[in-house]
Amino acid sequence: MDTKVLVVGAGPVGLTMAAELARYGVSVRIVDKAATRTDKSKALVLWSRTLELLERAACSETFVAAGRKVYAASIFAGDKQMARIDLTGVDSTYAYALMLPQSETERLLETHLEGLGVGVERNVEVTGFIETATGVEVNLAHADGSSERASANWLVGCDGAHSVVRHGLGAKFEGDTLQSDWILADGHLEGWPLTETELAMYWCEDGVLGVFPILPGRFRVIADVGNATGPRAADPSLEQIQAIVDRRGPGGVTLTDAVWLSGFRINERKVAAYRKGRVFLTGDAAHVHSPAGGQGMNTGMQDAFNLAWKLALVCRGALPAEPLLDSYSVERSAVGEKVLADAGRLTWVATLRNPLAQAIRNVAVRVLLGLPPVHDIFAGNFSEIAIGYKRSPLNGPYARGVGSPAPGRRVRMLPGRPPIGAGNIPRFALCTQAGAEVDALIAAYPLLLEPQPWPPFRADSFCLVRPDGYVACAVKDIGSIGRYLNALGGT
Ligand SMILES: Cc1cc2nc3c(=O)[nH]c(=O)nc-3n(C[C@H](O)[C@H](O)[C@H](O)COP(=O)(O)OP(=O)(O)OC[C@H]3O[C@@H](n4cnc5c(N)ncnc54)[C@H](O)[C@@H]3O)c2cc1C
Repeated sequence: MDTKVLVVGAGPVGLTMAAELARYGVSVRIVDKAATRTDKSKALVLWSRTLELLERAACSETFVAAGRKVYAASIFAGDKQMARIDLTGVDSTYAYALMLPQSETERLLETHLEGLGVGVERNVEVTGFIETATGVEVNLAHADGSSERASANWLVGCDGAHSVVRHGLGAKFEGDTLQSDWILADGHLEGWPLTETELAMYWCEDGVLGVFPILPGRFRVIADVGNATGPRAADPSLEQIQAIVDRRGPGGVTLTDAVWLSGFRINERKVAAYRKGRVFLTGDAAHVHSPAGGQGMNTGMQDAFNLAWKLALVCRGALPAEPLLDSYSVERSAVGEKVLADAGRLTWVATLRNPLAQAIRNVAVRVLLGLPPVHDIFAGNFSEIAIGYKRSPLNGPYARGVGSPAPGRRVRMLPGRPPIGAGNIPRFALCTQAGAEVDALIAAYPLLLEPQPWPPFRADSFCLVRPDGYVACAVKDIGSIGRYLNALGGT
């Protein structure tokens, strides 16, 4: 079988997936039914953790150069600032939110993918598939009316909220559509009084208004317009949004030159399992939720980062499929559940209508976010550096006192050093001091292990870090590392 992995959908998640596989030398095809990339700005934020993972792929600089750095998010009630979440203290070399329209994110990802020798096959629609003993047979419909039966060892559905791959698996997309209407506009804001390096949320008696700087002079305005019954309302007019900006915003602000006006409803849905046999679900195909917190696209891209190195190790023959591939669903489904719950809570809190509940909320938020530990938890969650895999089946032994983060926790990247997982071979990094025992272990697992010139967390410790930068195990005896790799099926 020539194609190891067939990726369905070339949105931000499919492009990330294909690029990571191509970087690791896995033969990949990526198809999309659309004739062109989206021109819509949709997801605006790349968070710190996504940028760290893009740095492993040697392309974060391009994104940073194209985007706009935002350092804080403020919440206002009327003209009072209730809270300010400062991102400059986030423990990352990317201590900010990078604002970049999704259309640009996709363009840069596609250019990156092309640089790795893979082009998106457009006007190609997946209409169905069946799994066989050795792979997946996929039906492709081409725009000229012809059809094709393609084979691949693995199929990855990155085909968005209405995923054909998810339907093909018969996986339930459990959850609800919230019964409230939302509107958005992208345009210029004349008279905007705040700095353009800050996001602003206005929690008002009649609803919420969010204002996000995108590019110099260009903003996204988003607002809820109350409970809804029946079909979704038509897209809003500029005048309708201006009236909301006047009512809920800081005053004296005029929205002009709108390039996108749209109405939407929020879906909160997720599949229970992200994998069935040789087929995987990632991104919006697996989870959709409120845009509050701006986590949707980032969560999807991180699904792809998580799955790609695992599939690459299997395709390269470095590890058997099990238990490695099953860990994808366990790890990412837990993250998806948390993102869904957090975004749902944030939406609920922001759209409270009862005046007494609003008053209590405002006091609680002011007090709580004024406490540094609570503030830091929020900043860690938004920036996604707090994401970890505490209950992963891949977590190995941990000896207290080795000074490293626990298994499943992220290892902070060191400025000026190549990140773990960079390069063209997915390997676990063995962080320790050089020595004969270390050389022998690396020689025993050449496809799986590489030494890391990073300082060990303690001179006499051994810390094994996964190719995606999360700790696998941290121990005081090197024999535990060998046993861990054996348990994964490493040879
Ligand atoms: C208004 C709005 C604001 C948002 N704001 C944010 C934000 O601030 N932060 C954030 O992180 N997220 C945000 N999101 C969510 C974000 O846009 C999505 O999470 C993201 O697009 C998901 O990417 P994806 O690649 O999974 O799916 P999509 O972007 O939906 O891409 C799926 C691709 O699959 C293709 N496809 C579908 N079916 C087939 C088929 N059968 N065969 C071949 N190809 C197929 C489609 O043509 C499409 O190109 C926002 C979304 C909206 C609508």
